[in-house]
Amino acid sequence: MGGRWNGWCWLRSALIRRVVRIGRRLGLNESTEVMVSEGKSDVNRRSFLGLGAGALAVAALANVGADGQSKETMQKGQQDHSASNPGPANKPLAGESPSSEVPPITDKGDVAPFWYSFDLSHRRTQEGGWTRQVTQRDLPISTDLAGVNMRLTAGSYRELHWHTANEWAYMIYGKARVTVLNPDGTIFIDDVEKGDLWFFPAGFPHSIQGIGEDGCEFLLVFDEGLFSEYQTFLISDWVAHTPASVLAKNFKLPQSQLAGLPEDELYIFPGKVPGSLEQDREAVGGKAVESPVSYTFRMLKMPATKETSGGSARIVDSRNFPASKTIAAALVTVKPGALRELHWHPNASEWQYYLSGSGRMTVFASSGKARTMNFTANDVGFVPAVAGHYIENTGDSDLVFLEVFKTSHYEDFSLNNWIRRVPPEMATAHLNLSESELKGIPSEKLVVIAE
Ligand code: MN
Ligand code: MN
Repeated sequence: MGGRWNGWCWLRSALIRRVVRIGRRLGLNESTEVMVSEGKSDVNRRSFLGLGAGALAVAALANVGADGQSKETMQKGQQDHSASNPGPANKPLAGESPSSEVPPITDKGDVAPFWYSFDLSHRRTQEGGWTRQVTQRDLPISTDLAGVNMRLTAGSYRELHWHTANEWAYMIYGKARVTVLNPDGTIFIDDVEKGDLWFFPAGFPHSIQGIGEDGCEFLLVFDEGLFSEYQTFLISDWVAHTPASVLAKNFKLPQSQLAGLPEDELYIFPGKVPGSLEQDREAVGGKAVESPVSYTFRMLKMPATKETSGGSARIVDSRNFPASKTIAAALVTVKPGALRELHWHPNASEWQYYLSGSGRMTVFASSGKARTMNFTANDVGFVPAVAGHYIENTGDSDLVFLEVFKTSHYEDFSLNNWIRRVPPEMATAHLNLSESELKGIPSEKLVVIAE
């Protein structure tokens, strides 16, 4: 009895493997499965009808895996009336989140949301610009990093301040002049433009001023999930909360001359576009007080760290930008149809900012859990430390995003590279691929894989 049952089990799993292979050869990949699910659009409906009963049967069988029962049930649920949704819908949001509305059938279990958008954040607007933030309060899974998006019009200041977290920045648009003081009294003054970075250490006092024709817009990333841009140490706030007699002693000025000091915080306020960088550097004392450390870096202008026909990655960490001691980053471009390959990071969680295009990411959270979410420009994504993930360009233009990590060194593992570095028999035993099929898998880490 046992022998016959084991024989049947073996036969069944061999049959399933064969069907899976036939399905793959027919191009019935996961996206086909989504089409198989109840079509939301006419295009999907047509694809559904065009598949034919035979192909559908193969597709259904192809999804029977180790926990075949539940996948089969999910598949059925997506095909029949079960997925119908007659109640209210926030249609624009549902349209932006197809991977939540009709998840790939490989998604399973309770995975905390890893998407948020600056377009949902309160925008604090003052004369001279605005700011908004996405922190752990908005995206609870992001305990290591928080982000701020800020705009300063030409001449306007983000006032002199400091704070508890380290600050990493990417210039999205326009130009800015930044200053940061070192504990030894030397000062760094520089101009930054689109694609440039800066790093200001925690506690170091600094400023940002919009310059050029139209000021700037930038992204800030802080290495504290609960950081708040509205709880920084401001020069105006401090003088407003110090007795005038003490200020007079400290500044060596008579109290009568301190009447004009701000009585409340300035935070963002308008100003005049300054003169040249050289003029400003000279005005504070020139070379004698110049910082030996550079706190800015030209990320977009550097040659790509990795480039393939599918896209590119520029990686910046403390190895090429020594000031950036606690934050590493990658600027990634994925061409239409291409894939930021299946990979993970051994040393940090990943905070993402999407600059342009649209894509989807699945986070594999172990224990049978995985979730897919969609991303578009101005969205924030997050991947818990060591969790497996990929990012696929689902649009018709380049998908460009930043990966930011709370670490001094960028590190990642490529699934392909791992599969090809273990002895072929070992890989074959795990994945049921023949040795010749195995050789089709790229052996090196490509970062971005063309379609
Ligand atoms: Mn700051
Ligand atoms: Mn990653």
